[in-house]
Amino acid sequence: MNLNAGYSSLSSPLELGLHKSGLRITPQRKKVLDLFQRIGGGNHLSAEEVHAHLLQMKSRVSLATIYRTLRLLVRMGFLHELELSEGGHRFELLSKDHPDHHHLVCINCGRTEEFESDEVVSAGRKAAENKGFKLIESTLNVRALCPKCI
Ligand SMILES: [Zn+2]
Ligand SMILES: [Zn+2]
Repeated sequence: MNLNAGYSSLSSPLELGLHKSGLRITPQRKKVLDLFQRIGGGNHLSAEEVHAHLLQMKSRVSLATIYRTLRLLVRMGFLHELELSEGGHRFELLSKDHPDHHHLVCINCGRTEEFESDEVVSAGRKAAENKGFKLIESTLNVRALCPKCI
């Protein structure tokens, strides 16, 4: 269960070109978001990969702009950012159809696998309750080496 409901009504504000955060959905932001929607939840892209995809679509956007756009889409609640250990970041679509999940990340090649664990979710919920925190999200990123990189 993800309590961050900011992304639950994706389509209509997008059509209006405005997000409830007050930030505008520019054509460029929409292009990046469309890419994530097309590949669907459960895919984790780096900024470089997003950049390469857009170039394939004949969209000439600088990598710096892609970074800015991705960060903004995270702030707007459309994307989730995964922080890997080596300063690498990956982004994925936040969606209701793809609820709280956890990540197993290879710190060498960046291969990312998802898994689900009720234990992690309930441990987070209990910890929050015990300390009087309001739970937003309870996810686990496991840094590891994949079979190819061991
Ligand atoms: Zn994921
Ligand atoms: Zn690896």
